[in-house]
Amino acid sequence: MGPRIVLMNRHQTMIERLQAIVGATHVKNDVDSLANWACDASRQYAPAATAIVFPASTEEVQAIVKLANLEKIALVPSGGRTGLSAGAVAAHGEVVVSFDRMNKVLEFLPLDHMVRVQAGVLTGQLQQFAIEQGLYYPVNFASAGSSQIGGNIATNAGGIKVIRYGMTRDWVLGLTVVTGNGDILHLNKGMTKNATGYDLRHLFIGAEGTLGFITEAEIRLERQPRDLRVIVLGMSDFNSIMHVLAAFQARLDLTAFEFFSELALQCVIADGNVDRPFQDATPFYVLLEFEASSPAVEESAMQVFEACMEAGWVQNGVMSQSETQASQLWRLREDISATIAKFTPYKNDISVLITHVPAFITDIDAIVQANYPDFDIVWFGHIGDGNLHLNILKPSNLSKDEFYAKCQFVNRSVFEAVQKYDGSISAEHGVGMTKKPYLGFTRSKEEISYLQAIKQVFDPNNIINPGKIFDLP
Ligand SMILES: Cc1cc2nc3c(=O)[nH]c(=O)nc-3n(C[C@H](O)[C@H](O)[C@H](O)COP(=O)(O)OP(=O)(O)OC[C@H]3O[C@@H](n4cnc5c(N)ncnc54)[C@H](O)[C@@H]3O)c2cc1C
Repeated sequence: MGPRIVLMNRHQTMIERLQAIVGATHVKNDVDSLANWACDASRQYAPAATAIVFPASTEEVQAIVKLANLEKIALVPSGGRTGLSAGAVAAHGEVVVSFDRMNKVLEFLPLDHMVRVQAGVLTGQLQQFAIEQGLYYPVNFASAGSSQIGGNIATNAGGIKVIRYGMTRDWVLGLTVVTGNGDILHLNKGMTKNATGYDLRHLFIGAEGTLGFITEAEIRLERQPRDLRVIVLGMSDFNSIMHVLAAFQARLDLTAFEFFSELALQCVIADGNVDRPFQDATPFYVLLEFEASSPAVEESAMQVFEACMEAGWVQNGVMSQSETQASQLWRLREDISATIAKFTPYKNDISVLITHVPAFITDIDAIVQANYPDFDIVWFGHIGDGNLHLNILKPSNLSKDEFYAKCQFVNRSVFEAVQKYDGSISAEHGVGMTKKPYLGFTRSKEEISYLQAIKQVFDPNNIINPGKIFDLP
């Protein structure tokens, strides 16, 4: 565990010294602010921060880190706090460093298709900026309205367009960071080509804020997709999903291939804002999207659909004919997380190679049937990337603690299956604190030793986000 703040008079001095860096009004330690900024969307750990500090520049972040090293104060980087692994949670008296004030688009270079932003720019704000330039920022997911670019980079966020556009990592051309040592580094400076040794930028992507703070980023933008069509298909068994994926991928460049279960759909429909895609219910649904760049492409999609019906893989289907219809169909998938939140779901975010998905699902299904016969399980996820979200809903007769204890007991079996198929215990949500005990199911002992050694190079006093991803020996 990292450094703590213990003495009251030391605490007061610390607040005053933080205020001297960022200004008196940009440090908060009232009860409401502590509760608000010290947690994320995981809701598993009680927030217990000492203060929240809101820097406005890289230099202010650097001064905070230098102070923290001097006084041995643990700092937690905080973005939009939509994370699902407790990476941004301050549960041990840390000072939270929030990027809410660092929310500016700094520069746009049209020839490079590149934008430089501060870390606190919202994902949705960057998407909108790109549209205004006639371009596109493709990383997208349901929390894009609140998550920040800094948080997205720190978690290497994925989402609903990975099958075509990749993860956040694929869009980061450069980073400005303040290391745990208090050094400011400009990593890769936006270049597409740069063969000068280790690319440290990639260490900070997905590091969950354990090596230092991301303060600015150079982000690549893409041409806008045109004439997107959305198809929702109903199917009776999971294996059919993989056949349908192969069939569509053989003929079309898909921009999304998502799946969800009937229970997931029921949760969304129950909220009353969107209708069933077709009358008959089936155990599983797929939502796929492609650019209908010509009538021939649309015709191909129809041919594949008909072939899938004939093969018996698909029972029902509907294709959007307008942008409004497309966004209505997307809501069936995108509203799942928000609509199941009221059931305090225990979330697993696991991935394997697409090749292994059918066998892996059979194993997971057996584990779930044996261990959770009475629990409602909501399946959904980015199946086109081999990424499954397994959500177990809390029965109303169990307390949150009893429920989490049961889920954690079964985790071992789920993660043994992940390990068997050389998969990941966290495809995109990160390890944080919630998945820390299970890191060894995906990373070898030797690998974890290297991770720990890298942490000690960038953050020798274990100041930045201590106790996240792994503990130090
Ligand atoms: C409804 C919903 C749907 C979601 N769907 C997806 C999805 O499809 N795909 C996906 O990948 N994720 C998804 N998420 C998870 C979450 O939105 C992402 O992990 C997102 O990238 C977190 O960004 P944030 O700004 O909220 O980060 P936070 O939650 O604030 O922080 C996340 C991590 O990044 C660190 N961090 C934050 N800012 C910085 C910084 N400037 N410098 C260094 N470290 C920093 C924090 O310490 C923490 O470890 C979803 C979440 C919700 C609630």
